[in-house]
Amino acid sequence: MKRYPEIKISNVGQSVLPEQAERAAALIREAEFILIGAGAGVSAAAGLTYSGARFTDNFGEFIEKYGAMYMTDMYSAGFYPFPTQEAKWGYWSKHSMINRFLPPALPLYRQICELVKGKNYFVLTTNVDHQFQKAGFCEERIFATQGDYGNIQCERGCHPQVYDAEDLFSRMDEARQECLIPSRLVPKCPVCGGNMTMHLRCDQYFVEDDNWHEAAGRYNDFLKGMENRKGVLLELGVGFNTPTIIRYPFERMVCENQNLSQIGRAHV
Ligand SMILES: [Zn+2]
Repeated sequence: MKRYPEIKISNVGQSVLPEQAERAAALIREAEFILIGAGAGVSAAAGLTYSGARFTDNFGEFIEKYGAMYMTDMYSAGFYPFPTQEAKWGYWSKHSMINRFLPPALPLYRQICELVKGKNYFVLTTNVDHQFQKAGFCEERIFATQGDYGNIQCERGCHPQVYDAEDLFSRMDEARQECLIPSRLVPKCPVCGGNMTMHLRCDQYFVEDDNWHEAAGRYNDFLKGMENRKGVLLELGVGFNTPTIIRYPFERMVCENQNLSQIGRAHV
């Protein structure tokens, strides 16, 4: 079994040797298909950072209310044990507006889109910020496995459906006072009457609805179609939070198939 050397490319904090960039460009040019695996690092590199000024500027009143010890960045803030539904949605509506609804398609995502334009490509991503869709990637060629900041679901996953929350979050955003949303805006499950939650994979109740299963099916079809063909696996900003989704399967595919080259493992 031949192990192909990885070509490291990066856009932040790492220099790329011209010959590496050239080789990567040649591989992409010659590829019959491109499989992109994208993690949180690519959104951070694109500008959607979860800490620093972007956090303190937007979440000042939350930091003051709940304490700087717990509210260190948008990632940890999401795990704060909000005492009420009004407090929980007060935070998440803001988080969702800042990371999902307000940002336009960011230049880095648009550049990646240009890179694969006209190619047979597919995107497997753990990101939930909708940037691939905004940048112009074909919806049918994206599998966002971990959910979407723009949707909510039953907290107990009592039925396999998710609900678009754009309008709800924008109303919460307008009505929020002292980090709380009014009780009249707290969503309830239309089936069991229980609490709702973000559509993010964080426990066993994550809802995999029809759209999710269809995207999973299209991803599997893509994998079957690329067997024995020359392809590139472009791994971007993938860390160790969920290595079983992109990192390990990509490594295995490259190990087992000599037609494949892997570009990436960019330490962004
Ligand atoms: Zn329910």
